[in-house]
Amino acid sequence: MPWRPTRQRKAVLSALHDCAGFTSAQELHEALEADGIPIGLTTVYRALHALDRSGQVDVVREKSGERLYRPRPADGHRHYLVCRDCGLSTAVDADAVERWAEDVAGTMGFAEVEHTVELTGVCDRCRVTPAVRSSAEQHS
Ligand SMILES: [Zn+2]
Ligand SMILES: [Zn+2]
Repeated sequence: MPWRPTRQRKAVLSALHDCAGFTSAQELHEALEADGIPIGLTTVYRALHALDRSGQVDVVREKSGERLYRPRPADGHRHYLVCRDCGLSTAVDADAVERWAEDVAGTMGFAEVEHTVELTGVCDRCRVTPAVRSSAEQHS
């Protein structure tokens, strides 16, 4: 049965919802295959790109340049602290950011101002035991 793009997007999005935190296209592809869903890696990339453009996923870029994806929360936006090593993402309290954004918008006379704030770092677990990722390391 041929898959329509919207079906593929739905499958990718629902697989993304099943993953904790940020997920790479490769990991998503593996998860979909494990569920017995026949989908090519290129199709996963395309679906993620489409979801990104329609604002249904958030994207961060890893140190290695790899893109990681996460479903965008439906109940308003949130801000996250993301570990660059393991992809762990934690929602953080960002009231100060919200107030600042409102103040700036008001002062400048702007309406419908949106913002994106992403905090990335290295989580305590990764700092204590750095993951062995020699294969992912960049050679310069
Ligand atoms: Zn980590
Ligand atoms: Zn915000």
